[in-house]
Amino acid sequence: MLQLNNNLRFCPQCGAQGFSQRCEKSLVCSECGFTYFHNVAATVTGFIFYQDKLLLVKRGQQPCLGMLDLPGGFVDPNESNEQALIRELQEELQLRVDSLQYMFSFPNHYCYKEVSYPTLDSFFMIKLDALPELTIQQAELSGYCWLEPSEIDPEALAFDSHKKALATCIYPKSLELHGGGK
Ligand SMILES: [Zn+2]
Repeated sequence: MLQLNNNLRFCPQCGAQGFSQRCEKSLVCSECGFTYFHNVAATVTGFIFYQDKLLLVKRGQQPCLGMLDLPGGFVDPNESNEQALIRELQEELQLRVDSLQYMFSFPNHYCYKEVSYPTLDSFFMIKLDALPELTIQQAELSGYCWLEPSEIDPEALAFDSHKKALATCIYPKSLELHGGGK
């Protein structure tokens, strides 16, 4: 269970201290009744292959600074998953993609500045016909590499959902539609 009260002690509407967690995803103010929902955020991630090599990026910012990551990011308001991933790949890598294929999703948690955000991470397959020229977004990434999936140490990946997704991508039979979680 998320411990939201560690981060949110005061009601943002009336300022009272009687702001308490009602369930996993909401806090309610005992003074004014204001309710805050800590909803699930959507993220998108690309498995980008050129031949048998998978594109990985190195994180240039917290959380998990310096660890390996799969390209992608958060979905913005009014965006589809597909639009978000196309935008993120353009921003992070100057990579233009025309087609992507939805694969599966896993729940995850993203910790930023001591707040844990529940996410739903959706994964897409992108197969490139040519090795692209990439320009990384310096503020977010510190490098990239192409590796065969079997060469990748899952523990070097920043996020648990990506470790599971990598295993699922390499060994599709391990896909459990009801799996996920911690
Ligand atoms: Zn209040």
